[in-house]
Amino acid sequence: SPAIGILALQGDVFEHRRMLESLGATVVEVRGVRDLAGLQGLVIPGGESSVMDKLTRLFDLVEPLRGAIDEGLPVLGTCAGMIMLAKDLVDGIDGQETLGGLDISVQRNAFGAQRESFDTRLSVKGVAGEPMDVSFIRAPVVTRVGPGVQVLASLEDGRVVAVDDSQCMALAFHPEVSGDSRLHEAFVKRAGNYPPLPGDLPTTLA
Ligand code: GLN
Repeated sequence: SPAIGILALQGDVFEHRRMLESLGATVVEVRGVRDLAGLQGLVIPGGESSVMDKLTRLFDLVEPLRGAIDEGLPVLGTCAGMIMLAKDLVDGIDGQETLGGLDISVQRNAFGAQRESFDTRLSVKGVAGEPMDVSFIRAPVVTRVGPGVQVLASLEDGRVVAVDDSQCMALAFHPEVSGDSRLHEAFVKRAGNYPPLPGDLPTTLA
């Protein structure tokens, strides 16, 4: 059972934890650099990316997380987590930064105030069988997809909402909320093939 961390400063940590544990992963809530040792994967949950950005800085996690991503740690980001993984943010507020790691541009709150949230069914590349039931909650969209990044899903209007570069998978929606575990399952499998991060992380990666 791979050890998977969830960045647990803010956001829908519980829903990810429940889903990952149901898939047999050992879950570690990450609030400090020490929590990264031994991880084989990391989930960045949904929430509010500008707050998550402030808290990762406050908890001295920005450089260690960037270092771990540079090393190749598999990461799954949902919604605010997608924003945190994006190399470029079209419309960050108040000096907002991202961790980066995934060569995409994202636009926050792309569905506006009128239809802030909706559920839909979505065909996702690599997910066999029925389309996924997914929830979009004040979701971002991907406005640029860099070389080496694969589009996993788009809406009917063509807007890109799921991408993967074989290390970092980013989803604009929340399968952990709607309860479809197939992408989490693929992620747990990916993490299982990654060697645990070393314990001396602060000096090697920070
Ligand atoms: N709107 C949020 C943000 O900009 C994301 C919403 C979510 O994670 N469900 O970070």
